[in-house]
Amino acid sequence: MACQAPLYPTWDHKTENRTYLCGNSRQSSGQCRRRPIPAELLETHVLNHLSTFVGSVEAWIGDVLGERKTEALARRTALDASKAALAALDRQRDKLYAEYERLIAEDSPLATLAR
Ligand SMILES: [Zn+2]
Repeated sequence: MACQAPLYPTWDHKTENRTYLCGNSRQSSGQCRRRPIPAELLETHVLNHLSTFVGSVEAWIGDVLGERKTEALARRTALDASKAALAALDRQRDKLYAEYERLIAEDSPLATLAR
């Protein structure tokens, strides 16, 4: 099990190898005996993981955009239905008002009841 200390890039002048070494090993604190990790090996793993991560972020953004579109469409549909209901009420009010005007014009006693 690793000691969880941060890793530091190192350069071995003798072998000309780049490696990563944990902070405890680097300071020879005795808390960790992990050997250096070859830089190419570690970086390949990190980059592979990064591409997987970026891929899942892209999919996630796509999902969020899809949800937003669905929500926007539902709101648009509800708004259209409310506008249609309002238009129907307007037409009904116009008809009732026209009927009321007709009753007044005829001096109908019903006109006072309709007020
Ligand atoms: Zn360590």
